[in-house]
Amino acid sequence: MKKRILGALCALILLIAVILSSCASTEPRSASFQSMDTLMTVKVYGGDKDLCDRLQQRVTELDALLDATDENSDIYQLNQNGKADVSNDTAALLERSLQLSEKLDPAFDITIYPAVKAWGFTTGDYRIPDDDELKQLAAKIDDTAVQSDNNTYTLPAGVMLDLGAVAKGYAADQCDAILKEGHADAAVLNLGGTVKLYGKKPDGKRFSVGVADPDNPAGYFGYLSCEDGVVATSGGYERYFERDGKRYIHILDPATAKPVENGIQSVTICCDDGTAADALSTALFVMGLDKATAYYRAHPDFDFIILTDDHSVYLTEGVYDEFTLCDGYDFHLKKVDR
Ligand code: ADP
Ligand code: MG
Repeated sequence: MKKRILGALCALILLIAVILSSCASTEPRSASFQSMDTLMTVKVYGGDKDLCDRLQQRVTELDALLDATDENSDIYQLNQNGKADVSNDTAALLERSLQLSEKLDPAFDITIYPAVKAWGFTTGDYRIPDDDELKQLAAKIDDTAVQSDNNTYTLPAGVMLDLGAVAKGYAADQCDAILKEGHADAAVLNLGGTVKLYGKKPDGKRFSVGVADPDNPAGYFGYLSCEDGVVATSGGYERYFERDGKRYIHILDPATAKPVENGIQSVTICCDDGTAADALSTALFVMGLDKATAYYRAHPDFDFIILTDDHSVYLTEGVYDEFTLCDGYDFHLKKVDR
């Protein structure tokens, strides 16, 4: 009798352990780390146990190759010497960026580095270049001058590269491959304003991504409900300085080498392709609302949410019904048709 009770007790304990462990598998594993000048958080449901570590390692590895301010990076070497043999990752991203740049001309240009540096955005020693200097800087922004032969890249004198507008998007695409290899069920990777969504959540619900409030970037003015893909936001609030009451932001117009001032506060892009999402968020910011809308109508393979200074929120067809404004925000939602 005693043996039977003991047996039943053991079976019960085993059952509880199985229930608990199956509950635990619906809880994501997560990690936070600093990379690409920002705080990143990865959350992974299911799959190999070391997936968070592998994601962190991959992003850190890419940062070390792509950071123009890091003396050991491919981009730093190329900028300093005008010529360099770069890694396959750097070559792949350079090639992709140059293709995107051709499509997004003249709003997006990866030879923006000397201008970004001149304004002090690489060091935080901010300054306002005079008109002559700006003219000289603008004359050197031209990524059609970048030459390549396999992985050997060559830059003309005075031309330097900056992959800051696409590195996080490329990292998101590389993480996708790791999540696939590691058999993850689902994942939410917040790579500092570039959010990668993967798979289906265990509760079957769609992902919900907050869109940052430029006046309080730790908070959100609205939420977007979406399935997998990348949601990338570019905002003037990310990096800027103020002089005499005027704000100078880190997104520059390649035509003038000056910070963009066009009434846009932030551009959020939803797209399956992370590198494209990241490039588009920067480029549509530079284009301004009218040109961004025209660009979307000519290439409707992505969606956007554009917040303007007058608190209007322009949303393209694919995201209009999926967006919810947070309580307390008196913003005007406007639908942009194809
Ligand atoms: P964030 O880095 O804040 O997520 P973005 O993706 O918009 O924002 O990238 C902005 C960075 O891209 C700048 O810090 C600068 O290094 C670079 N950049 C600025 N203007 C341009 C531009 N017009 N084309 C390409 N790169 C740019
Ligand atoms: Mg970008």
